[in-house]
Amino acid sequence: MTTTLQATVLDTVVQAGDGALIRVPAGGRLRIVDTHGNQAVDTLLYDADDIDNRYSAFDTIREQGAVYLTTGSRLLSTRLDELAVISDDTCGRHDTIGGACAQESNVIRYGEHVRHQHACRQTFLAYGAAAGIGQRQLGHNINFFMNVPVDSLGNLNFEDGVSAPGKYVEIVASRDILVLISNCPQLNNPCNGWDPTAVQLLGWWES
Ligand SMILES: [Zn+2]
Repeated sequence: MTTTLQATVLDTVVQAGDGALIRVPAGGRLRIVDTHGNQAVDTLLYDADDIDNRYSAFDTIREQGAVYLTTGSRLLSTRLDELAVISDDTCGRHDTIGGACAQESNVIRYGEHVRHQHACRQTFLAYGAAAGIGQRQLGHNINFFMNVPVDSLGNLNFEDGVSAPGKYVEIVASRDILVLISNCPQLNNPCNGWDPTAVQLLGWWES
């Protein structure tokens, strides 16, 4: 019997307002650490062999019969392929309804004076370009660590986070995937505790 030890092949810090594009091979583990707590990590997943086969929040929610993501959640694509599974989660739950911030949505929500502020949509486009990911490939995203409670009447609000320093979420790739991350720079609602902070990415797979 042979035992294969997987070395850490990724260990990097993503500052608030910055992003990352990471290729995770099938079976690889990617951990996102909320180093300071209350950060929102906007994330999109793609089939590495076909970026039009991308994460679908709607299909994921329907097939799991729950609106929050946590350990065991199967992250499905628009073609109902399993892209990854959440294998560990010390936070408890993650949002996939609230969407990513954009300059346009910021203006509608908070006023014209925030139009110049940086937003996740720009980061997605900047980091996705290297893989050919453009506006057509930007679908509804995951907001790791973000707290968007849904009440009994179906209302949802952006609330103060349920995460804390050192909490993390980990996914295992079900096939070769691309993970596109925008570490949210949002200053206008409590999803980042009014103070966006860095996150750490750790990865384990055969390099
Ligand atoms: Zn954002």
